[in-house]
Amino acid sequence: MGSAISQSSRHISVQPPHIEATPSGWYLTSGPELPLVPHRGDVDCDCLVIGGGWMGLHAARRFAEVQPDASVTLVDAGRIGNNAAGRCMGFAIDLAHNPRKHDFVEDVQGNLDELAANLEGNAYLRSAVEELGVECDWDPQGKYHSAATDHGVADLVNFSKALDRMGQKYRWVEREEIQAITGSKHYIRALHHPGTILIQPAKYLKNMTRLLPKNVTVHENTPVTGVTYGSPRHVFETATGTIRPKKVIICAAGYLTKFGFYPNSAIPVYTFASMTRPLTEAELAKAGDRPAYGLIPADSFGTTVRRTVDNRLFLRNVYSYADNFKMTHDEVMETRRHQQVAFDRRWPELSSIGFEASWGGLLTLAQNGGMVFGKLADNVYGAAFCNGTGVSRGTAFGKAVAELAAGMTSPVIEILKRKTPPSRAYPKLITSLGVRFVTGRRFRQAGQEV
Ligand SMILES: Cc1cc2nc3c(=O)[nH]c(=O)nc-3n(C[C@H](O)[C@H](O)[C@H](O)COP(=O)(O)OP(=O)(O)OC[C@H]3O[C@@H](n4cnc5c(N)ncnc54)[C@H](O)[C@@H]3O)c2cc1C
Repeated sequence: MGSAISQSSRHISVQPPHIEATPSGWYLTSGPELPLVPHRGDVDCDCLVIGGGWMGLHAARRFAEVQPDASVTLVDAGRIGNNAAGRCMGFAIDLAHNPRKHDFVEDVQGNLDELAANLEGNAYLRSAVEELGVECDWDPQGKYHSAATDHGVADLVNFSKALDRMGQKYRWVEREEIQAITGSKHYIRALHHPGTILIQPAKYLKNMTRLLPKNVTVHENTPVTGVTYGSPRHVFETATGTIRPKKVIICAAGYLTKFGFYPNSAIPVYTFASMTRPLTEAELAKAGDRPAYGLIPADSFGTTVRRTVDNRLFLRNVYSYADNFKMTHDEVMETRRHQQVAFDRRWPELSSIGFEASWGGLLTLAQNGGMVFGKLADNVYGAAFCNGTGVSRGTAFGKAVAELAAGMTSPVIEILKRKTPPSRAYPKLITSLGVRFVTGRRFRQAGQEV
């Protein structure tokens, strides 16, 4: 609670998120819109959850499950599924995948803790699919860590050592096989790790929202614009009224800092993706013999690829500092150039078809890699800061923070309580220059892995 605000009836104006410059390809192909339920007037509830990403949606689901008589309100500033959560590449990853992180191989206990939390997240996602019937193109085929260069192969070897030390199963995939799977001569070697689940993220989020317990009320397009922390209740303001919850769970990613917690700790970084139209039969013959797959680049500054069940190719690359948490349309389109280069390198016979949609999304990083989890003040709980990967981890954080708010304990809650909280970032100018310098250099070093 080190960075928590004082509790003596203090009003804060909350800066809500910017509207994204472009819709994501996943959202455009995710089926019918959710019905909009506007928030009006002054409303009391037992639990307010702010943010409908991986963390907030699962916090709302869990709180409502464990307290079925409680009234739960979930608000999001935009459309659920068109947020960073729904803009992601849809890898629900059991184990973080940064083999170049300097202590990744050595940090066995940290990796085991991460694995335990992520497995809980994946189990909760799975229960949504198997028990509630959430449709999301669920595909538990694992992921291919794919190298296009000798330095990429060296990164994979390093990664395999970390997996060995953790007793993790994996399989080397040699040149011929990875080229047959993808139809791309670009790749020279890969490592298959089985724990990851591939999903259509926007579909999952929208369909999960539809199937939330009956005691959850959802208000999209409802930014919280102010809060008065006080007693007996905190009062949250929207454009059309107030919400006075007994408890609040803030799952607003980097925007959690705008609610008065961990000020100046969020480092807003965007990453970007582009999606093709569905490939024709003739084009599919050049895109490999596997109908759907997910490739993680051996170098984390390389290009991530998905081939989807509706026969599209998705490519993600580029990390960019987002001044004031915002990316313009021109900036998104500028990065599309890099996804096109990656497309040209991998599938030169297909890449002239270009892309149907391009978009960016926010990753919230902390200087020290810290994350927000737990009680932030009286009747205020929070989970935020994905530091790069947020599907499994965010689901686990959301579920666990709701259980904590409901007075429960669990092994995962104990793990997450031990996480280092975010530290204050360096002054903005230094941070922005530093991020731009490091991401630019790492991008260039990644070379043909991009
Ligand atoms: C292109 C891309 C690819 C990625 N690929 C992957 C991947 O394959 N696997 C993976 O694990 N991760 C991936 N990520 C990261 C992942 O998307 C994030 O880690 C994840 O979305 C974080 O979840 P979250 O719930 O914390 O936050 P978010 O998804 O950012 O949700 C926070 C929500 O809070 C709402 N909010 C904020 N302020 C307010 C307010 N004042 N009032 C109301 N609502 C508010 C926002 O509207 C938003 O919906 C990717 C990200 C991007 C951009």
